[in-house]
Amino acid sequence: WNKNDFLWSSDLNDKLKSVFKLEKLRPMQLQTMNVTLSGKDCMLIMPTGGGKSLCFQLPAVVSKGITLVVSPLISLMEDQLMALEALDVHATTLNASTTTAEAKSIFDAMTNPKATLKLLYVTPEKLAKSKRFMNKLEKMYQVGRFARLVIDEVHCCSQWGHDFRPDYKFLGIMKRQFPEVPILGLTATATVNVLEDVKKILNIPKCQLFRASFNRPNLYYQVRPKPATQIEALDEIQKIIQSRFNGQSGIVYCFSRKDSEEVTSGLQKRGIRSGCYHANLSSQERSRIHHMWSTGKVLVVVATIAFGMGIDKPNVRFVIHHSISKSMENLYQESGRAGRDEQRSECIVFYRLADIFRQSTMVFTEQTGLKCLYGILAYCLDSKRCRRSMIAQHFGESWDASQCDGMCDHCDLNSIYTSTTIDITNHCKNVLAILKQATETDQRVTALKLVDSWFGKGQASLKVKDIKVTTISKEKADIIIGYMLLNGYLKEDFHFTAYTTISYILPGPKANLLLNGNRQISFEFKVKALGA
Ligand code: ADP
Repeated sequence: WNKNDFLWSSDLNDKLKSVFKLEKLRPMQLQTMNVTLSGKDCMLIMPTGGGKSLCFQLPAVVSKGITLVVSPLISLMEDQLMALEALDVHATTLNASTTTAEAKSIFDAMTNPKATLKLLYVTPEKLAKSKRFMNKLEKMYQVGRFARLVIDEVHCCSQWGHDFRPDYKFLGIMKRQFPEVPILGLTATATVNVLEDVKKILNIPKCQLFRASFNRPNLYYQVRPKPATQIEALDEIQKIIQSRFNGQSGIVYCFSRKDSEEVTSGLQKRGIRSGCYHANLSSQERSRIHHMWSTGKVLVVVATIAFGMGIDKPNVRFVIHHSISKSMENLYQESGRAGRDEQRSECIVFYRLADIFRQSTMVFTEQTGLKCLYGILAYCLDSKRCRRSMIAQHFGESWDASQCDGMCDHCDLNSIYTSTTIDITNHCKNVLAILKQATETDQRVTALKLVDSWFGKGQASLKVKDIKVTTISKEKADIIIGYMLLNGYLKEDFHFTAYTTISYILPGPKANLLLNGNRQISFEFKVKALGA
C-alpha cells in the first residue's frame, strides 16, 4: 500500500458517521472504497452479510456524478433503495414499472450537474436490451457524470459459477464503451476459475482483487447423521427446532420440491409454523412466503435452493440442510444466510450416503460436478478436523484451528458427538469382494444393493462364500462406502434409463492397491456420546 491508496479515508469516515450512522468500517471496506475512488477497477470478494453494499454506496455519496449499479433482482434493489431513502441518500431504479415522468427526471439527472441523484440501479437486461438507455449513458459519460459502474453478484457473468445469467455477458462491452469509468464488481463467490473468467468477460484484466475473510465467527457448524426414514428425520428436526430455537426464524433446505413439500407439512403437523418455497410455486406465492417469514408470521421456510438471492433477514438463527448441498460453495452460501446480525446461529447438515447418490446422478454431467460433490462428502465424513478449517481450506484461506473457539462440532467440548477409531481394512476388502462377485455373475449393483448384500440381505447370487455377514452398524457401513469413494477404492458408474440416471458402484482405480498390498486403513468415526 502507498499513501495515495488511502487518500479518501477521512472523507469516507466522515460520511460513514454522518450519512450512514455507522461507527467504523469493517476489514476490506476501506481499501476497496479508496481503490475504486482512485479510478481503478476492482473486485471485492466478501461473504454474504459482510457489507458489500456499503463499499459502493459510501463512495457514491463521496463522488461527483452518478454511480450505476447493475443488480440481478428487482427485490434486491428495492431493499437497498428503501434503506437509502431512510438515510436520505438520493437513489432510484429504472425498470419496466418506472413511469414516463420518473424516467424523464432520471434522464435529466444523468446529465444535469445540479441533480442530487447519486445511485441508479438497473438490471443487466435493461443495459442489454435498451438502446435508448445506452445512449443516455453515453451522454452521461460525455458530460463527466458517470462516476462508477458497480456490478453486484458479478459471478453471474461466468458460466463456471453457480448462478450464470446470460444478460450479464453483455456487460463486457461496458469497459470498451466507457473506458474511463472504474468498474467495481461484488460477489461472495471466491472460486479462482470464476474470478478469472469474470475478469476476461468484463475486459478488466488488471483489476485488483480484495478478499475479505470467509470466516463467520458467530456461525456454529455441525454435521449430523441423517436418520433412515423421513419420519425420524422430521422428529429430529422438530426436536432441534423446538428445544433450541423455539419461536425463532430459520431455513430448512431440501433436495427436491417433493422433499420440501413433505418436510413443510411434516413440520406443520408437528406444530412448527412453516412455509414451503420452491421454483414450481407461483411468484406471488413465493413472495407471500418470503414476506410472511420476513415479518415473523412464518418461522421456518422449507425450501429448495430456489430460495436464495435477496434473503437479507438479519436474525436467521438456524439453517438446517435436510439433505447435503451439491458443493461446499453452495453449502457455504446457503448456511451463510444464518446470523447476519452477528449473533450466534447454527448451520446443521444432515448427512446420509443415499443423498450423495441423489445428487451425483444430477451433477455428474457438469464439468466439475462430481468433484464439487465429493468435496462436500469429504466435509461430512471428516471428524478429525475443525469444520472452519475445512471451509477456510476450500476458500484458499489459511486458518488456525484454535481460532474456532468451540464453534463447530469438532472443536466444541460440549458436543454430543465423540469419535472412535476403527481398523476398516477388512471391511473395505469385503466390499470389494462383493463387487468382484457381482462382476463375475454379470450384475450391476447400486450402493444400496451393495450394502444390502454386505449385511446378508438381497440377492443370494451376490453372497460371497468366505465372507461373514458384517456386524457393524448401518451408519458405519455407509460411511465406509463414502470413504472408499473418496479415496478411489470405489467409483460411481452412471447409466441412463428412460426415466432416470442410476449410479452403479464399481471398484475404483486404487482397489487393487488395497486387495494386493498390505495397506491398513483406519477410520475415525463420529459417534453420539453416551447419554446424549
Ligand atoms: P452483503 O451485500 O455483503 O451480503 P450487505 O451489504 O447487505 O451485505 O450488509 C450486511 C449488513 O451489514 C447490513 O445490515 C449493513 O448495514 C451492515 N454493515 C455493512 N458495513 C457495516 C459496517 N462497517 N458497520 C456496521 N454494519 C455494517
